[in-house]
Amino acid sequence: MCSEVARPVGADDAARLLRSASSVTVLSHVNPDADTIGSALALAVALERAGTPVRASFPAPHRLPRSLTLLPGTHLLCPPEEVPADSAVAVAVDCSSSDRLGELAGVLDSSGTALVVDHHSTNTGFGDVAVVDPQAQSTTVIVERILRAWGTPVDADIAQCLYAGLVTDTGGLRRADTASLRLTADLLETGFDGPALLRGLMDSHPFAWLPMLGTVLARARLDPEAVGGRGMVHTAIHLEDARGVEWEEVESVIDIVRTSDEAEVAVVLKERPSNDDAPRGLWSVSLRSRGTVDVATVARGLGGGGHRAAAGYPAAGSQDDVLAELRAALGR
Ligand code: 5GP
Ligand code: MN
Repeated sequence: MCSEVARPVGADDAARLLRSASSVTVLSHVNPDADTIGSALALAVALERAGTPVRASFPAPHRLPRSLTLLPGTHLLCPPEEVPADSAVAVAVDCSSSDRLGELAGVLDSSGTALVVDHHSTNTGFGDVAVVDPQAQSTTVIVERILRAWGTPVDADIAQCLYAGLVTDTGGLRRADTASLRLTADLLETGFDGPALLRGLMDSHPFAWLPMLGTVLARARLDPEAVGGRGMVHTAIHLEDARGVEWEEVESVIDIVRTSDEAEVAVVLKERPSNDDAPRGLWSVSLRSRGTVDVATVARGLGGGGHRAAAGYPAAGSQDDVLAELRAALGR
């Protein structure tokens, strides 16, 4: 079952639901990042330890980013076509809307109970029951609360998965609040090598990343008049620029573009392979703000979602048209 409006529940209700489930499927969002995979694997490892049949998956293209293969619990991942359709509980983690689950969205309907665990302010309220907390700096923060309410031990394996989501969603702890820093310390006390994991997740790229960066950064433009004069910096990554590097290398470009001092908003247009419905110009757009502009609201208005300072949406059309539509949405 999967309702239109999920019933908000607390971590203890979610823990009770998981503890009593006869089987569980955990679902991450398309183009998965460390928060959605860390959340899924932390839950899956805890469930496996408890003897509950569990599978984790994410939509096509089902290729785990290289950096996330470092995490414990990847043996519990299966391709979308092997996901059981009739688990007692299906859990969607770090997804603000059901369309983030691609072809796996139907699993929420065909499973007994659909539980949503998320920290996006733009969460649409899908699922049967939901633990949504926009104050949580990562979905793994909420997963840790659920595991604590359950009373299941957070060992070094589970801690690494939780840490992965927390450090990456806070920009390597740059934006971490005191609650996140305290949790980070607790997680590190389980004994894993935090700096090594952080380096693998955030500071490690194939050499081909450097020439790709050279090309797309040379194409960056500053538009000081945009966003009501607060400025916008933007670039685009075409399919040919990204040949030979993985999608996660493309995802990392926004973190460099956003450092431009003169711009309140940073934008990266990432070209996606076209299909019959959209023969040309299919994009994933990444938005970042310095905090005075709520890009989550802008992204939601354009069919996506996210957080106040980091959001995204899918777009179709020429690069100029996509930028013009975005400029209008951000205010002249
Ligand atoms: P990124 O720019 O790193 O892809 O995404 C930044 C934030 O925006 C993440 O929190 C992500 O969940 C959200 N986001 C990115 N693209 C989309 C999208 O197409 N739909 C929705 N709902 N959220 C998105
Ligand atoms: Mn997240």
